[in-house]
Amino acid sequence: MSASPPFLDPLSVIKIFSQTKNATALHVGEEAHIQFANEAMLRIWGKDEAVIGKSLEDALPELKGQPFIEMFAKVWREGLTISGSDTPAMLKIDGKEQIFYFDFEYRAILDDIGKTICILHTATDVTDRFLKQKAIERATEGAELLKKEEELNENLSHENHTLAAALDELKASNEELYLTKESLESLNQKLDMMVKERTEQIYFLNQELKASNEEISAANKELAASNEELSSINKKMAKLIEELEKGERKFRQLIQQAPVAINVFKGRDLIIESANIKMLEIWNKTTEVEGKNFTVALPEIADQPFIEILHAVLDTGIPYHGKESKAIIIKDGVAEERYFNFIYQPIIDEEEKVGSILQVVTEVTEQVNSRKEISEVNTRLNIAIDAGSLGSTEVDLETGTMVYNEEFSRMFGKKPGEDFVYADMFEAMLPEYRDRIKELVAIAKQDNSIYHAEYQIRWPDGSLHWISAHGRARYDSKGKPIKMVGILSEVTEVKADEQRKNDFIGMVSHELKTPLTSMTAYVQILQHNAQKRQDSFAATALEKAHNQLKKMTGMINSFLNVSRLESGKIHIEKQDFDLCSLIEEMRTEFKVTANRHEIIFEKNQPVVVNADQNKIGHVVTNFISNAVKYSPVNTLITISCQVEGNSAVVSVSDQGKGIKEEDTAKLFERYYRVNDQPSTISGFGIGLYLCAEIIERHNGRIWVDSELNKGSTFHFSLPLNP
Ligand code: ADP
Repeated sequence: MSASPPFLDPLSVIKIFSQTKNATALHVGEEAHIQFANEAMLRIWGKDEAVIGKSLEDALPELKGQPFIEMFAKVWREGLTISGSDTPAMLKIDGKEQIFYFDFEYRAILDDIGKTICILHTATDVTDRFLKQKAIERATEGAELLKKEEELNENLSHENHTLAAALDELKASNEELYLTKESLESLNQKLDMMVKERTEQIYFLNQELKASNEEISAANKELAASNEELSSINKKMAKLIEELEKGERKFRQLIQQAPVAINVFKGRDLIIESANIKMLEIWNKTTEVEGKNFTVALPEIADQPFIEILHAVLDTGIPYHGKESKAIIIKDGVAEERYFNFIYQPIIDEEEKVGSILQVVTEVTEQVNSRKEISEVNTRLNIAIDAGSLGSTEVDLETGTMVYNEEFSRMFGKKPGEDFVYADMFEAMLPEYRDRIKELVAIAKQDNSIYHAEYQIRWPDGSLHWISAHGRARYDSKGKPIKMVGILSEVTEVKADEQRKNDFIGMVSHELKTPLTSMTAYVQILQHNAQKRQDSFAATALEKAHNQLKKMTGMINSFLNVSRLESGKIHIEKQDFDLCSLIEEMRTEFKVTANRHEIIFEKNQPVVVNADQNKIGHVVTNFISNAVKYSPVNTLITISCQVEGNSAVVSVSDQGKGIKEEDTAKLFERYYRVNDQPSTISGFGIGLYLCAEIIERHNGRIWVDSELNKGSTFHFSLPLNP
């Protein structure tokens, strides 16, 4: 088997084909752009290769007005094959317009889906053949015509008439035919025009359709994206709604549990829409009232002003604030008078109208009642102040300005309306009282306690007067004292009475002292004699008499001391001494007389004070003797003396019955004795009073700590560097 010869490449094939004798060209597009034309075709057209790429009309302008350009367009559009033979065409060859005759074929070459991809144009110049044939035809025709002429001539006469008639008919038919042809041509032209217009329209419609399709597809894409967005928005929205519902639930719970009473009234019928727990509590109702008319839920409201106010708020849209308004509310069938602060707040609905009212209420019954009570107490206080001729004052501690009643200024010898300031009070006070009073005021301010002081003042006219004052500080919210409130009374008369009484007691005590001293001396002599005589009965009796005399002397001395004290006749004579040694001395004395108690004193380092030794000794004795007096036998009495800060503190503790709290502050007052003690315990309530006076004159402090049925501890302190 011989090997197959090599195949030509497409370009060579085209080159070879371009040399075929048959004129061949390829056109594309409706305007029959020349893609390819072989030499034979170029020859026919009388053109060179410059025409390649041009439209048929541009390449061969002479074809304008001939049917070929339109034929190409039709073939392109409709995918047809148009062919013709001996078809005349006018071409411009060498600048001369000439008619040639062709056999030709315009064949639409279609792709797989039937769309025209190009037009294969083949043509054969048959001008020679055609002209020859025409000449032959004409020659033949001429011979035949001659023959026929003879025959016709023969028949001429015969058919002259017929001919004439036929000629007429022919003439008429010819005219008709001509007319028909003309109208047919114009119809054809119109048809072509219409086809062209339609085609153009369809083309434009197609273009528009294409654009619209593109737009629709873009819109579809956008729609899809929007749909996605919408779905995510929907999800978010669902979440938001859920959160909103949660929030609303929370809000409702908050309102329900709010510490103030809240409710919403809806419409003119005042339907209770949402009353919280606090509101229901105020009304003494349950949730059953919800949805009911206010006056149906609380019939007692009908006669009260609230309905009218609520309607006014609905009509005007102006909120209403009620302050300490009285309302009668029925509880368990009993009408109660209560007071409320409240707000009726109009709620504007979507139509910009007041559709509901928000009601917020706080009950202030307690405050109003308290205020009423306070004002009543104030009235009573004022009556008491007036009745007791008491002076009352209020001092602004920052500015020193004073507010006071008339009695107060009178007490200081001022005329009504005369100016008076805080400093004037101290000015009027005798100098020896000033420091002490200032100190008492300072302590009261610091401890939030009431101070009590008695002092003498000198009036502008020079006369002396006694004042008894009680005072207490008032504080701001930070606990800083801002005011001092005082109640004063003039006690000049009382003091004069006391003085007279003291003078009398002093005189009596003094008078009693002389016979008592001689009686004691006699008893002592008798005692001595009885011992000598060994008269044991007399000795014991006289011993007892001597003890009683000692007690009596002690009592009389106390009275004498009180009277001296009050007349200012007690003098403090200070010296340095060791307090501990003094206490030890007292303890030893007591051990002899009061041997049924165990008295313990743990002596430490010496504690040297500068004080009146005798008088301090008197205080220690008094503490110990009270401890012995007010605690059961065989119990323990403990004494201590120690330095605390800048003071020496002496304490005496017993295991006695103790003292009630209400009594502790008063023990140091003159003649004060605890009420419920057995009558077997004698005393006048002077001892502790004297102690307090002595300690006070040393600028010290005296106080007691006690627990009922456990025991008491009495303390006094003395300044170490007086
Ligand atoms: P007197 O003892 O003479 O009554 P005081 O002035 O010494 O007067 O005491 C006043 C009151 O204080 C006493 O009547 C007593 O009720 C109470 N008292 C004093 N010391 C003690 C104490 N150690 N224990 C219990 N009560 C006491």
